[in-house]
Amino acid sequence: MATQSKSDHDCPNALDKYTLDLISSLTSPAGKNKQSVTPEVRKVISELYQLACKKNLTTPILELFDRLLTLKETGVSIDDFGLSGADICNLALKHQQLDEHMVSLGGRLTQALPIAAEANSRVEDYLARKDTEAPSGIELWQKIQENGKRIRKKLGMSEDDWFSYKGQIRNCINSAEELASLIDLPVEAVKSIDNVIKTFRMRLTPYYTSLIMPTEINDPIMLQSIPTGEMVDNAGIEIPPVAADHSPARLIDQFYPRVLTIKATNMCAMYCTHCLRIAHIGKKDHSYSREAYGEALDYIRNNERVRDVLITGGDAFVLPNSIIKWILEELDSIDHIKVKRLGTRIPITAPMRIDDELLDILEESNDKNPIRVVTQINTAQEITPVSRDAFRRISKRVFTVLNQAVLLKGINDTRVKMWKLCETIHESYVRPYYIFNCSYRNPQFTHFRVPLEVGRDIVESMYGNISGDAIPRYIATAGGKIPLHRDNVVSSKGEDYLLRKPWNNEEVTYPDADPDIYGKEDFAFRKYTK
Ligand SMILES: *Cc1c(COP(=O)(O)O)cnc(C)c1O
Ligand code: SF4
Repeated sequence: MATQSKSDHDCPNALDKYTLDLISSLTSPAGKNKQSVTPEVRKVISELYQLACKKNLTTPILELFDRLLTLKETGVSIDDFGLSGADICNLALKHQQLDEHMVSLGGRLTQALPIAAEANSRVEDYLARKDTEAPSGIELWQKIQENGKRIRKKLGMSEDDWFSYKGQIRNCINSAEELASLIDLPVEAVKSIDNVIKTFRMRLTPYYTSLIMPTEINDPIMLQSIPTGEMVDNAGIEIPPVAADHSPARLIDQFYPRVLTIKATNMCAMYCTHCLRIAHIGKKDHSYSREAYGEALDYIRNNERVRDVLITGGDAFVLPNSIIKWILEELDSIDHIKVKRLGTRIPITAPMRIDDELLDILEESNDKNPIRVVTQINTAQEITPVSRDAFRRISKRVFTVLNQAVLLKGINDTRVKMWKLCETIHESYVRPYYIFNCSYRNPQFTHFRVPLEVGRDIVESMYGNISGDAIPRYIATAGGKIPLHRDNVVSSKGEDYLLRKPWNNEEVTYPDADPDIYGKEDFAFRKYTK
């Protein structure tokens, strides 16, 4: 080791400002209240230095500088280890030459690492809480299977019954008494349910019932599927569902010029307590005639502006395979229909329904024009290994699977719960698409509503913290879907905008496109044609 310290201007020009600042700080005279160097520290530095010189690795160099920088804060300088400015300068240069992207040592140590540390700190709280506050059905699988066994026995279902869709539907739970025999409910609650379901239909598949954690008072699965007293207590004047005023033809709802929905059934495998179509869904099972579908298809056929058709309900996968196949074939025979969607919650409520015949039908139609399957998952608890597998199989056969969640009090109205939901579905072959603010139109679920701002905070908090394609759009339904994103444009001055980073509220200046350059017609290849 050289004994003579060198000043930073001897360092090669190849080093950037961050690294020169770092070296200059390390080579500045030792502090006044300097602490003594223990033999252990001396040994660590010596070993790191040897390693940094010998190996063609960036990590020992980075570690050495990191230690030296910390020691410097206690007044200890590089001289104390017999290191010169030239020694550390050479190592800094070596770091930069080794790195494939020529990242400088100072840039990495004093800039990139602190930024990464700040980013990590933003998710600490989430990581510590996510598995206890918002366990997924995958994490709860052991308990769910135990619940399943108990329920199966109580209902006298064979194993074949449990694992078949028909068996699930045949054994659906639709009375308070039956429900009370399967999960612990206070006597008062049973009475209340018994009363409410005279007005609002209850139907849980045995499988969906097994997702309920009996020890949780307001279990998110129960809240979504078991009607409670509020539904009748709240009942005020129902503002008619938007859909009813937007039906230009039999079975059709249309708000938009290029996309419409066919309400192909009013049935669902499970009836949600927060269903937007609560007035139409689930009152009485009702199969529709081919004539009815025919009129809906005629409307689409005669409407060349429509390019996207959403087959919904109810739940599209409640329909028999033969009907799904027929509707898809009809749509595929219409030239102006370019994309299709099927709305279903069945992979969550009765995943046994996803049979190979259905998958073949989806794939065949998807080969003609893209199909998206749109589902509704509101809590990570709804994703079990079985439903994840259903989504995996579907996602192999269609263009994409999207999720539309509803923001619901006690179910997904915290950052931890919603982040966990979005990450879990993302890991289960499903892309978060929308989060709806729970509708104001239905007094039956006033008790589930969450303030607009709470939802905005949750959705905005995802930016920069979870994968971009796992972040849904936040929507109010009020005669069409209205985006509710927070505006991250703080202000504008001349051609400069001030933008806000949603993840830490830091403000950055963002120069706009030059309007003169934007206004120039003569650009790229056009300028050669004169
Ligand atoms: C939601 C909905 C659509 C589809 O809207 P996207 O924003 O394309 O997902 C179309 N028609 C009706 C009636 C709807 O409710
Ligand atoms: S699955 Fe959809 S249509 Fe069926 S009850 Fe639930 S929210 Fe309503």
